[in-house]
Amino acid sequence: MREPKNTYLSDYRPPSHHITHCELVFDIFDEKTIVSNTMKILALDKENRSLLLNGKGLELLSLKCNGIEIDTESYLQNDTGLKLLNLPADPCTISVVTAIYPKQNTNLEGLYVSGDIYCTQNEPEGFRRISYFLDRPDNMTVFTTTVIADRERFPILLSNGNMIEKGSVGDARHFVKWHDPFVKPSYLFALVAGDLDVFSDSFVTSSRRSVDLNIYVDKGNRHRCSYAMRSLKAAMKWDEKEYGREYDLDVYNIVAVDSFNMGAMENKGLNIFNSHYVLADEEHATDQDFMGIESVIAHEYFHNWTGNRITCRDWFQLTLKEGLTVFRDQCFSADMNSPVVQRIKDVKMLQQRQFAEDAGPTAHPVKPDHYIEINNFYTATVYEKGAEVIRMLHTFMGPEKFRRGMDRYFILFDGQAVRTEDFIFALTQDCRIDIEQFKLWYTQERTPVLYVDEKYDAENREYTLYLTQIIPKSVEGKEQKPYLA
Ligand SMILES: [Zn+2]
Repeated sequence: MREPKNTYLSDYRPPSHHITHCELVFDIFDEKTIVSNTMKILALDKENRSLLLNGKGLELLSLKCNGIEIDTESYLQNDTGLKLLNLPADPCTISVVTAIYPKQNTNLEGLYVSGDIYCTQNEPEGFRRISYFLDRPDNMTVFTTTVIADRERFPILLSNGNMIEKGSVGDARHFVKWHDPFVKPSYLFALVAGDLDVFSDSFVTSSRRSVDLNIYVDKGNRHRCSYAMRSLKAAMKWDEKEYGREYDLDVYNIVAVDSFNMGAMENKGLNIFNSHYVLADEEHATDQDFMGIESVIAHEYFHNWTGNRITCRDWFQLTLKEGLTVFRDQCFSADMNSPVVQRIKDVKMLQQRQFAEDAGPTAHPVKPDHYIEINNFYTATVYEKGAEVIRMLHTFMGPEKFRRGMDRYFILFDGQAVRTEDFIFALTQDCRIDIEQFKLWYTQERTPVLYVDEKYDAENREYTLYLTQIIPKSVEGKEQKPYLA
């Protein structure tokens, strides 16, 4: 048995290279899929001629640098990656062709087949099961993707961005080419191939651009999409009004199928959901179901700015996108329905799930500083407590200053992978609270308890309010500091 290994935030090092562009071609065959990946690579550290690309379970078929086959002495390959040893100091192009076996992929990460549908799940580290890559969120790349498959069985071929070309390949196969002009990390890459129904509509943005909206579903589910579509349009409008955030591609695609194993994933321009979270018809769904759909559709949509355009530098910063996006979807639901009822619902959820987690042995800070398995950190603490911490800032600052701070965040960090501290810095520039002290909410764990007592002295007409904060020790028994009062 291998000892579980901790990853520490303090060990973070920026990458030695940057993959600026990535051209992918997926040739989907019954048994396997051939993935051709052509990457433009820029050395950030000119002294460093070696580059480690992540890769898991990949069958290497060909490896070239600037069009010339790389000899076996110039790379090392093992079950976690590919190390290129003698890269040129100048920008270069690495072309790597691999075979993957989506039908045998039971990890449900990377590209897999479920039912008759090919789909991907790459957050947090699934892309390394698709191709060799710098599979870390601080490497942001422009992706162009061509998907080739049998025309009859896979009439729908989707990826991120805008569709730029399509056509035939021989008699029975066809291709669709997608280009995403916005840089993104590999965890936001997505691909779907299948025979799906589609429910379409459109949205005109505040600068009068028309965006095509499509919800792709399993055959026979088309009539169950209208509420999700209505919710999407409401979310697009709300983000323009409340945050000045306009949608940026020509098309917004949603895939909602029974076979997607995760709940929902915000891949750029191609959200993928389990159908359970999206589809409803008035005969069977309850009010709760409809509100749930409205909230999850909005959540994934809001990620386009808080998560995709500005993403996390590393996975310790997960709350940067999740805490903020939960806060945004809670405010959206409050505006769409009753703010009071929404707040009660959110607090109940926090008490039931997050307080329980925070009181138990797996309690951790909103921003953890070490993990063994990042997949286990998609928690109520990172999401819900992360949202509450932002709500506190919203309360301290008031809506106008908060909005100005958010505007500053988008201006300063668009197209970048940043830290939670960068968000707080941008948000609170003109706010007079002690930010260093406030940041304890991100680094300490457990739920503080506040005792309130009062006294009224009728003779002197003096009212006194006593507040006592009890700060529990950390899971490891360490003393923790009091919070901003
Ligand atoms: Zn999310």
